[in-house]
Amino acid sequence: MKFIDLKLMPAILKALDKEQYTDPTPIQAQAIPAALEGRDVLGCAQTGTGKTAAFSIPIIQRLSSQPAKGGKPQGKRRIRSLILTPTRELAIQIEDNIRAYSQFTDIRCISIVGGVSQRGQEIQLARGTDILIATPGRLIDLINQKHVDLQYVEILVLDEADRMLDMGFINDVKKIMSRIPAQKQTLFFSATMPPEINRLVESLLRNPVKVEI
Ligand code: AMP
Repeated sequence: MKFIDLKLMPAILKALDKEQYTDPTPIQAQAIPAALEGRDVLGCAQTGTGKTAAFSIPIIQRLSSQPAKGGKPQGKRRIRSLILTPTRELAIQIEDNIRAYSQFTDIRCISIVGGVSQRGQEIQLARGTDILIATPGRLIDLINQKHVDLQYVEILVLDEADRMLDMGFINDVKKIMSRIPAQKQTLFFSATMPPEINRLVESLLRNPVKVEI
């Protein structure tokens, strides 16, 4: 299996070529086609398996090939994909990866994390973005202060869901979910599947394609 067999757009193939990726990892080979079809995905995978590209590549392709619902009012981009991840380090890693894979597309992506000044993040959000990567605590603050509007989200990613729960983010995650339209695609990744994660999966995912590594 090669990336070229996954029906990826030329701009993404060019970026993967530049990164010198030739073959998809097992999780990418399974998750990318399902996500490109618009299916929900439940991925049981650890860091190091290539899970970041497994959710990032379909997001870039779907957002690039489908116009935003309702267009771009005053040319401003609205958040079409939200990626929730437990830590600042993971958020920055995801942002770097998405920048690399989308470098030959028109997709814009920003990350907002705790522990740094909020002002710069407010300015970035006001400029608009297609993809928002966030840690739950800072995102809640920015939602409460009306700097973030999630009502146009089409694709939601929960990355390292079990770690988000372990870190006590469950109520924040639930609050964030309540701001996102019910009609959306969800890509859910967790290294382990304890009962609390299973309950979240049951309430969030619709007929998901299960991918286990
Ligand atoms: P992740 O599990 O998403 O943290 O990815 C682990 C590492 O593998 C990252 O440094 C990626 O840049 C790299 N990687 C992901 N997919 C591929 C691939 N198909 N070929 C080569 N390297 C990859």
